[in-house]
Amino acid sequence: MKPLEPAPREMDCVVVGGGAAGLSAAVNMGRMRRSVLLVDERDRFMWHHKLDNYLGFPDGVAASEIRRLGWRHAARFGAQLLLGHVATASRRGDRFLLRIERLPEGGMFGQTPSPSVPRDEEMARVFGEVPEGGPMEVLARTVILATGVVGHFPEFPGRNECVGQSLFWCIHCEGYESIDRVVGVVGHTEDAVQTALDLLDFTARVTIVAGRPEGFDVPASRLADLAANGIGAHPNGVVQYENRGGQMQALVLDDPARTRIPVEQVYTIRGTRATSELARQLGLELTPAGQIAVTSEQHTNVPGVYAAGDATNLHDHQVSAAAHQGNQAAFGANYHLYRPVQRAGGNAADT
Ligand SMILES: Cc1cc2nc3c(=O)[nH]c(=O)nc-3n(C[C@H](O)[C@H](O)[C@H](O)COP(=O)(O)OP(=O)(O)OC[C@H]3O[C@@H](n4cnc5c(N)ncnc54)[C@H](O)[C@@H]3O)c2cc1C
Repeated sequence: MKPLEPAPREMDCVVVGGGAAGLSAAVNMGRMRRSVLLVDERDRFMWHHKLDNYLGFPDGVAASEIRRLGWRHAARFGAQLLLGHVATASRRGDRFLLRIERLPEGGMFGQTPSPSVPRDEEMARVFGEVPEGGPMEVLARTVILATGVVGHFPEFPGRNECVGQSLFWCIHCEGYESIDRVVGVVGHTEDAVQTALDLLDFTARVTIVAGRPEGFDVPASRLADLAANGIGAHPNGVVQYENRGGQMQALVLDDPARTRIPVEQVYTIRGTRATSELARQLGLELTPAGQIAVTSEQHTNVPGVYAAGDATNLHDHQVSAAAHQGNQAAFGANYHLYRPVQRAGGNAADT
């Protein structure tokens, strides 16, 4: 007779994603005395960005430092942290089965880790690892998806060092750091034109490059707006993003002269994609633009599954928003775990 497979471990909650949203959810589930496992494949916070608008850090704080503090915080309230990739998620009655794989060497995206991140010792102390010899399975009574987004930065040598230091996309995050700097915007759409014009509140030295041979895809009136506001516009592709040590230096245009446009910073307008594969597997509703659809309290359409952070937001990609939504998701998941008698009016309803 075939030996029985060991039953998968069961947790009150599995949080997928260890950015601001997931960590905040794990802290709060832990404080509610729920067993919680957070699984993270460490991606977005590997960028070298510094947060200068996050309350409580008047001198700014590295995103990696927020994450490190978040690990300590979640671990203090009993959350188990696991380095791994949640490959699949499916329903099992009123539970959810998650299959967690080891990370390939170099992480999921083969990114160069930031040298400023004292990640490895701290990670080794607080994170578990998926054991050798195959994926592990966990049954969850509730799931919180906090899987973030994938940013579409252009590919070029030195790109990973530049992201967050001199290669940006968000004026709310980095506009202030562009004051009086020489800035290039790369993009052919109305978003790019708007970014170039909005940057004028920070610097007068703005140039826009379409970033593709077909040129700009905006009405002539918008090109006229750029010209009227002193913004040079080049309808060319970019053959080289010159950079050194994380510092952008120039955009080299795809024209016969290989025109070189010196820049100190570049904003790229290539957008992001919500990481929603697990959401699809679980049958969650998505928005038309692909984010996980949630209520104002982070409920999805599947009872017991919650989502928070960038994966649920089209525009509001901020650490403060993600942390708040992680809290809300935890409160929702905790409510789901209450016995009916513990709910408002002893009501069996899960809302
Ligand atoms: C260059 C840059 C500059 C920024 N500047 C600022 C700023 O100044 N101020 C500000 O407030 N915000 C800023 N942001 C945005 C901020 O970083 C995000 O809004 C925030 O990180 C969102 O948190 P999150 O938890 O939703 O997602 P993330 O931080 O992206 O975390 C999601 C995590 O989920 C993991 N994950 C995804 N799928 C899986 C899976 N299947 N299994 C396991 N793990 C998985 C990812 O690896 C990732 O670690 C910046 C972002 C970038 C990239």
